[in-house]
Amino acid sequence: MNRKLIAGNWKMNGLRADLQTVRDVCAAIKGEKTAPETLLCVPATLLVAASATADGSALRIGGQTCHSRQSGAFTGDVSAQMLQDAGASYVIAGHSERRTFHGETDEIVAAQAASAIASGLVPIICVGETPGERTSGETLQVIERQLTGSLAGLEAASAFVIAYEPLWAIGTGKVATPEQIAEVHDHVRGFLANRFGAAGNAARILYGGSLNPGNAAEILAISNVDGGLIGGASLKAADFLAIYTTACALEG
Ligand code: PEP
Repeated sequence: MNRKLIAGNWKMNGLRADLQTVRDVCAAIKGEKTAPETLLCVPATLLVAASATADGSALRIGGQTCHSRQSGAFTGDVSAQMLQDAGASYVIAGHSERRTFHGETDEIVAAQAASAIASGLVPIICVGETPGERTSGETLQVIERQLTGSLAGLEAASAFVIAYEPLWAIGTGKVATPEQIAEVHDHVRGFLANRFGAAGNAARILYGGSLNPGNAAEILAISNVDGGLIGGASLKAADFLAIYTTACALEG
């Protein structure tokens, strides 16, 4: 069983006043290796302050995207090296909102993941089907296509995380059923094991999509669910910590 990762994605939310949430999470989580790993992916503007706030605690801080290049004439973009310099240890790559609103393709996501790894960050590579793809029975083909493209060039020795996030479940309150989650996660595990061998079994696969304190116990107990990527419920320390506590109980 892989150590669970409970990861929050604040998206475009969070001002300096919200560092209190970071403080509250730091104060409540345990540092032991037997407890789930805990991460908050905050907006780039809060990275330095959030990292300073989390310093000395078990909380990890991450970015939400990065450019595929380390520096250059890319106005408004942030590189993996900059995220690392600001205190991040993880970065989300290919979140569906980036794929949808910023045209990020599997090829771009693969280049971002490579750049993240080169900068010492662990990429959390997101995949997920649209409602139409789910209805037409294409889910597994879509996931496999995204994995093939987004993991292109990745080596077995690199640390990375996959997040399965069905687009119809993100921010909608609609949660995938345990059967739907298990089917995709088992498929992702098979893909990773086939491609990377033992390292593919050690890579964590997160579920994301309206995960909350009420459904966390059922979802986090599914085999091959190694944690969660949590949007809305990561904005309030109490909700995020309730999910973390559920994951702690499952780690035994
Ligand atoms: C996300 O943004 O990755 C996400 C899963 O959001 P939510 O938990 O709000 O559905």
